[in-house]
Amino acid sequence: MIKRFLPIVLIAILFLTPTIADAQEEISLLDSTAQIFFPSALVFNINVESTSDITKVRLHYQVDKMNYAQVVSESWPDFTPAPEVKTQWIWDMRRVSLPSGATVHYWWTVEDEVGNKLTTPVDAVRFDDLRYSWQSLTAGQLNLFWYDSSHSFAEELMAASQQALERLAKDTGVYLENPVDIYIYANSTDLRGAMVFPREWTGGVAFTEYGIIAIGVSEKQLDWGKRALAHELGHLVTHQITFSPYGAILPTWLDEGLAMHAEGKPDPYLQSWLKKAISEQRLISVRSLSSPFSAKPEEAYISYAQSQSLVEFLIQNHGKDRILRLLTLLKEGNTCDEALSEVYGFDQDGLDELWREYIISQTLSQSGLGCAPAWEIGQGKVFEEEVLGKLVASKALTIPLGVP
Ligand SMILES: [Zn+2]
Repeated sequence: MIKRFLPIVLIAILFLTPTIADAQEEISLLDSTAQIFFPSALVFNINVESTSDITKVRLHYQVDKMNYAQVVSESWPDFTPAPEVKTQWIWDMRRVSLPSGATVHYWWTVEDEVGNKLTTPVDAVRFDDLRYSWQSLTAGQLNLFWYDSSHSFAEELMAASQQALERLAKDTGVYLENPVDIYIYANSTDLRGAMVFPREWTGGVAFTEYGIIAIGVSEKQLDWGKRALAHELGHLVTHQITFSPYGAILPTWLDEGLAMHAEGKPDPYLQSWLKKAISEQRLISVRSLSSPFSAKPEEAYISYAQSQSLVEFLIQNHGKDRILRLLTLLKEGNTCDEALSEVYGFDQDGLDELWREYIISQTLSQSGLGCAPAWEIGQGKVFEEEVLGKLVASKALTIPLGVP
């Protein structure tokens, strides 16, 4: 909870903005707090008084996330005009939810009936999951938070995450531009408890715009956790590097292929699916793989396996530097076909043809396929959600306090 009291606020205003201090003295901020009810709601409270009736109270807030336009949202809490007003605005996360660790900057503007105005200083609240006592570990751009495992467990996950970043940088030239916060829940049940509308199979979530990953990993699942974390970090790196005001569209095969490349060692299970798809002539066209993957398990297995193989093909046969160039052209607003043609001299159909020749000759020579992991597809259900959480200005809500 964040509290600011009258004397501090007044001193700050007088010091910073002496010319408007006289007018603002008429309205006094008695209290301003933000309360976290994770994951359901974030509640902003204000208590103000004036020498005449207060008639307007507005909350302004801004969420820290990748954004080219500075989006400030506004809300108008309900209250009855009076010389002293105590009111609140409830951000109901059932409408637009925030991930754990997201930071919100906020301030209030208050007006009374004779035209006096008060603008409170900008404050910040982190929407932390306060139900657990988090420990933290920081290395480079990564902050890792956990609560229910040993320090060595956290260090192993951190080391695997760093290796994933190094692998991507070395093999493709892509790198993390902004810090990432990683929340390790003790298991998938705890993770689902941190989501407003969890899906029963969710094992992890990458909030790419916020630079936040939340994942459920028990000590027994360390190997799975390392791979899953590396994969999600791969997505974050790729999304950061292609984030643009043009709204770059990443073909799914490239996004997933790079995420799987970040994991490192190939997964034999998906490798076997790729071999099966080749022998049964069930390979999916690259153009189809640029759209979201099928939810059908068998097609999803093949889609992931093919995506990794496509990326391995580009790296091994055409050099690592070109992947970064390809991502840069996508960021600049080129279509996938345009970007591929400029960097490699072939579009998605050309890639499809060349990759099929390559993969079939690889299979015949038994020298190993590009392959992919099974962790993301559990019992026929795709593992992750990449949340591009769009924040919209929402009206004041009237749900009662006392949310859990
Ligand atoms: Zn993925």
